[in-house]
This record gives sequence, C-alpha cells and structure tokens, in this order.
Amino acid sequence: MRFEPRPFTGPVPFRCLYCPDCCRGRHVYLTLKDIERIARTGKDPQDFVTFSVEGDKIRFVLAVREWDLGCVFHDPETGKCTIHEVNPIICRIYPFMVSRKPLGVEGEKPFEYEGEGLWLYYDANCPGINAEEPETTIAPEEIAELGLEFEREFERTDMDGFVRLLDELG
Ligand code: SF4
Ligand code: SF4
Repeated sequence: MRFEPRPFTGPVPFRCLYCPDCCRGRHVYLTLKDIERIARTGKDPQDFVTFSVEGDKIRFVLAVREWDLGCVFHDPETGKCTIHEVNPIICRIYPFMVSRKPLGVEGEKPFEYEGEGLWLYYDANCPGINAEEPETTIAPEEIAELGLEFEREFERTDMDGFVRLLDELG
C-alpha cells in the first residue's frame, strides 16, 4: 500500500483491522535496538535482517517472504504480527509518520514537541483511523515521541554496532 499523507494534528480514534496487505511490500528500517529486542525472543537475526546499501551507509531492513513480499513476521492467515510485543519502531509508528519538513499536504502545520519542530501525518489508506468501535485513541505526542526515538536509534545503527550485537547475543 502506498502511504497517502494527511495532516495529523490532533488525537484520532483507531482500531487495527488487520488488512491482509498492510505488512506486505513494505521497506521497514531496523535499528540496533529493534534487532536486539526481536533477537532476545529467540529469533535469529539471519532470518529477519537484510542489508541495503544507501550512499556510503549500510541500512538494516526487515526481511520479506519471496512468495508475497510479506514481512517474515506477518501471519498471512490472520494478517496479524507474530512479534507484536517487540515489533520495530517503524511498525509502531505506522499508520502515522513523522517528518522534519512539510510534505506539501493541504492543512498541514508544524507540531512542536520537546523543542523540536515536526510534521506529523497519517495514512489516508488505513481504514483503522476513525474506525467504528475504536480500541484506542492515538495522540500526536505518542507518535512524535516514537519518531524522535527512531531518529536517535537509526543514527547510531551501523555495521560495527551490528557485529558487536551479534557477539553479545552469542
Ligand atoms: S492498514 Fe491500518 S487498519 Fe489495516 S492493518 Fe494496517 S494499521 Fe491496521
Ligand atoms: S514486524 Fe509485524 S508489524 Fe512490522 S511489518 Fe512485520 S508483521 Fe508487520
């Protein structure tokens, strides 16, 4: 699914409907913390981490199945995430996104959080936003916090750290 940004400027009701294609064909960046959290549940990083060369950086990306491009942790029968308790920060942010600059979407405005100027959006293609019988309400502060956490962790994620982590995990 392509992310269709809409300004996220106030709390929205939400209920995940486990749409079958939500976790297919996504490029999910992993931080070292994500990799460690998942690996500590007994998963082998060899089975879920892939590498992507971007300029002079190596990025760590969640592996997908060949047959349907679904995430290796996606249950194709139920549409649910099999590692929900420890899933990557990017997955916890979706169906929202955090940007450092405006995307040029009508109605957008900056969101100040912890002294940082952020731009928050939700995906208009996600039927869980404003769903009937919502399970929860998502506030911009929660997403801004996750966005800043991702930014910090992504910055310190590199091959040296990955090798050290593999050593620690034994
Ligand atoms: S598109 Fe939205 S409602 Fe559907 S599975 Fe993804 S997050 Fe849940
Ligand atoms: S880790 Fe879970 S939430 Fe994230 S893409 Fe995979 S199945 Fe979906």
